[in-house]
Amino acid sequence: MKTELIISNLGYPRIGENREWKKALESFWAGKLEEEAFRAEMDRIQLELLKVQQAKGVDLIPVGDFTLYDHMLDMAVMFGVVPERYRHEGGPVPLSVYFAMARGNAQATACEMTKWFNTNYHYIVPEIGGIVPRLTVNKPLEAYRFAKKRAGIEGKPVVVGLFTFLKLSKGFEAGRLAEKIEQFLPVYIQMLTELEREGVQWVQIDEPYLATNVTADEWKLVEHLYRRIREQTAGLRIMLQTYFEGVDDFEKITSLSVDGIGLDFVHDGGKNAKALEQFGWPEDKVLGAGLIDGRNIWRADLDAKLEAIRRIAAVVPLERLILQPSCSLLHVPVSTRAESGLDPVVRGALAFAEEKLDELRILRAAVRQGEQAVEAELAASREALNAFRLLPERNREDVASGLRQLADIPDSRNRPFSERFELQRNKWQLPPLPTTTIGSFPQTPEVRQARLKWRRGEWNDAQYEAFMKEQIEACIRLQEEIGIDVLVHGEFERTDMVEYFGEKLDGFVFTRNGWVQSYGSRCVKPPVIYADVAFVQPMTVKESVYAQSLTDRPVKGMLTGPITILNWSFVRDDLSREQVANQIALALRQEVLALEKAGIEMIQVDEPALREGLPLKREDQDAYLQWAVKAFRLAASGVKDTTQIHTHMCYCEFHDMIDAIRSLDADVISIESSRSHGELISSFEQHDYDHGIGLGVYDIHSPRVPSVEEMSDMIDRALRVLRPELFWINPDCGLKTRGLAETVPALRNMVQAAQAARAQHFQRA
Ligand code: GLN
Ligand code: ZN
Repeated sequence: MKTELIISNLGYPRIGENREWKKALESFWAGKLEEEAFRAEMDRIQLELLKVQQAKGVDLIPVGDFTLYDHMLDMAVMFGVVPERYRHEGGPVPLSVYFAMARGNAQATACEMTKWFNTNYHYIVPEIGGIVPRLTVNKPLEAYRFAKKRAGIEGKPVVVGLFTFLKLSKGFEAGRLAEKIEQFLPVYIQMLTELEREGVQWVQIDEPYLATNVTADEWKLVEHLYRRIREQTAGLRIMLQTYFEGVDDFEKITSLSVDGIGLDFVHDGGKNAKALEQFGWPEDKVLGAGLIDGRNIWRADLDAKLEAIRRIAAVVPLERLILQPSCSLLHVPVSTRAESGLDPVVRGALAFAEEKLDELRILRAAVRQGEQAVEAELAASREALNAFRLLPERNREDVASGLRQLADIPDSRNRPFSERFELQRNKWQLPPLPTTTIGSFPQTPEVRQARLKWRRGEWNDAQYEAFMKEQIEACIRLQEEIGIDVLVHGEFERTDMVEYFGEKLDGFVFTRNGWVQSYGSRCVKPPVIYADVAFVQPMTVKESVYAQSLTDRPVKGMLTGPITILNWSFVRDDLSREQVANQIALALRQEVLALEKAGIEMIQVDEPALREGLPLKREDQDAYLQWAVKAFRLAASGVKDTTQIHTHMCYCEFHDMIDAIRSLDADVISIESSRSHGELISSFEQHDYDHGIGLGVYDIHSPRVPSVEEMSDMIDRALRVLRPELFWINPDCGLKTRGLAETVPALRNMVQAAQAARAQHFQRA
């Protein structure tokens, strides 16, 4: 066999093994670290990450993927895309401006932040506007020099492609994309030319947008763009990298003027491998084969991967093949080293970023030297996976039979909403425009302390329970005193809305150090769904029932929905996401029924992450929404018609999924909206919404107390497009991150605004 096969990496977690990166950032922001010390610490972290990849034997190590906040923000700043409100006068962009764009400052609000494709990573959205691009700094060049000088690494600079960069930016009309590409091209080429002159061999240009639905006109632009780049940087080898999906137009992408193309062979639904077999591979190009899953945490089946390599190698000779992860490893935690708390079989099935590099190395050796050269490692991997597959909790007959009987479980309410509406109106006798909240109340330091003490065993169950009861009681009294109509118990027992349920359901484990970056310095530690999910015992009944016992007003039961639990976890990959969603749904259905049986007859099933699971390709979206809606309905629809099901969502961009939202058939939905009230209202002008709905009337993300007038204004505008009988008044999300100092006056103002609106819209009602 030829011995040329090499391995490459596309990007590495920035946060460091113990989140050193996060700590450095936050110390700097808090003024505890001077700029010089901060930069030195960041250099140290960057160097360490490079050295890990070097030690793992990666042939092409990415440089320039490291950042002080976000790689899209870096691109924007590099090209001088600094909105006017930051009053930057030209020259290099100082850190103060860089972080102001990310986080806002006293003078200027932050740039918008949004999801990076279908991941849980969020990037800063560049605001192009009328800005004239210029190269303020050559970031990939600096990173390349850094790696070379400090670690002797011949790095592969990584940059976002101009097409993807502009497609993800805002501040210009879509029809002017061609013009914007022309405008940015000279600067982009200047950056690349400087890399070429420096002697860079490979540069990785990330164009994940090419794995979405690309129009014929856009392909023309892309062809033009890469032809222009090629004309002026002939000495630079360009790896055009796609990920997160398959590429629809294989012939188009393989005829672009680049030296290599990186394809995702994991999250493409088999599309890329099929196209490769069908169309072959051009002789002038290298293939970056993304075979190791960069988005999930499971050990790879190396035998299957070797088989995949053999199939690819039948089309692409090994000397033109590069083995790599399916995408940047940014989306997985750093290392499984700290996970000694897990069952060894479960731990053995995990592969985080470092272990994924090991897998690449083993595969390379197996191909180069033959499998016998790495027989021990292959065998160990095989054994670990087998043990994991055989775990009884992954093969539960009761759960499997639940799924087989799915067709017999009704997933709709007995009567249509219009009839339920009347029944519920009679039952609940609420005033018009009822007021409520989204669930959580401020989590004071005492609340956090209490949970901690109990977890550490410093408090016994009885102490902890007594404390929780006090909190619930105070919360109920507060809401009564403020005059809210539908109350909540406050969610003091929950650290996190998914973790809380994951800990009580079967099928989850929690890592000690499985952090991934969500945005900026914010990291999340997703629960791991490793086995069959099943209900064990009631999870929320005790708190809700206690809260209800204290008051005559209705108390809403509160749980997290199946799709949100799914989308905010790492999920086993031997079942489809739909199957796992249904398992969770059936478990939650039991919780909903247990609540109802215990007398809780208003129940909120939160689905803030419904939209996050939306597939990138339009043609896959309907199918997702269908099974997602079905899972929600499975969870929520087993109740009596008089029982009122609420749901809550956290985003506002949902004009394209309003049909799905309607088919959830929740009696009441509350939606976060105060930041983009106008847009949301206008989407209701276009689509009729005919179930109960609360558009958040104030922004809980800010400590500012909104006035009665402001909220009245929001209510009036909403009532111009929504039926007053269906309208609810609530803040736009849970209050857990707020303090009582601002929450209490804000809720008082909200109740006043509701009373004023009632007087106006329901005279003598
Ligand atoms: N019920 C949850 C809360 O109030 C909802 C949180 C969310 O939407 N993310 O905290
Ligand atoms: Zn929310």
